Amino acid sequence: MESRSRFLGCLLGGAVGDALGASVEFMSFEQIRKAHGETGIRDFAPAYGKAGAITDDTQMTLFTAEGIIRALVHGSIKGYCDPFETMRRSYLRWFITQNERPPVEFRPDGWLITQKELFRRRAPGKSVMAALQEGGYHPNDPPGNDSMGCGGVMRVAPVGLLMEHPFEFGSKTAAITHGHPLGQAPAGCLAVLIRAIAEGADIEDATKAARESAKEFSKQVDLIDQAISLSQSDALAWKAIHSIGGGWTAPDALAIAIFACLRGQTLEEAVVIAVNHDGDSDSTGSIAGQIMGTLQGSEAIPERWIESLELKSVIEQVALDLYAWHESPPTAEQIAADWWVRYPGS
Ligand SMILES: [Mg+2]
Repeated sequence: MESRSRFLGCLLGGAVGDALGASVEFMSFEQIRKAHGETGIRDFAPAYGKAGAITDDTQMTLFTAEGIIRALVHGSIKGYCDPFETMRRSYLRWFITQNERPPVEFRPDGWLITQKELFRRRAPGKSVMAALQEGGYHPNDPPGNDSMGCGGVMRVAPVGLLMEHPFEFGSKTAAITHGHPLGQAPAGCLAVLIRAIAEGADIEDATKAARESAKEFSKQVDLIDQAISLSQSDALAWKAIHSIGGGWTAPDALAIAIFACLRGQTLEEAVVIAVNHDGDSDSTGSIAGQIMGTLQGSEAIPERWIESLELKSVIEQVALDLYAWHESPPTAEQIAADWWVRYPGS
């Protein structure tokens, strides 16, 4: 599997999982079955006015990637960088796309925020919105809230593709909006899982690495163990997921995605499993799609989903920018000529 395909697979896979879950985010499995038949939803259905619409999960993942690249640009040129300050400002740019005003004045510069299709409000998470209304929190400061919602974990996959110390970096990235340790650790855990897969591990070994990274967080370890054992049982997928949780909080959102990826053989199977339950379907679908996309590459994504995916070319470009940096970090001349314009290190 080529790295290029894994990077594209991670971001596009997450986006198709998000889009598949978008129309059923707030439905019980019973309601999903009434609308889509006995086996639940298996193809994009209209959400926010069209099939293939992505939600806040994909939008914020793009801004995480932007924050990473801007931090790298800044560090390369200036010789130092506080990546979490850069990331916090990226999330404030996303906040502007939600038709909100950050509490601090700054220039909404760079390429990503010029993408008009991003300016859509798609049921953004309450903790995230409240935290950004206060400007977001720096991970070195005291936590600004006690949230363990899944808004921290659903956006950090790009950290696993590119950054050193993925557990610490992922957890601190989540800490910009989520103050509870269990709102943060699952994000670090997902970054470790994505990193392991990107480096060639299979899903079982990557899950072990993720479990090991979370060993100080017994709640997360227990949920991962539950996901592993349920995946090997003959329990119906939606019932198994119901026993793990709703995915509204970070630890169970991650565990549900892991269950879906261990149970499903293909990306399509895994994201179908990950969205058909009573809980937060788009976030669990998004995380499962990121994991399976990294594992099986962008070729594993059904063509019919790619065709109608909102923001497809923007998502592809961001994935390829992450990949370009991963393959060969640009020189100072290249940064000055191109990268600094699209990803200003400010
Ligand atoms: Mg969402």
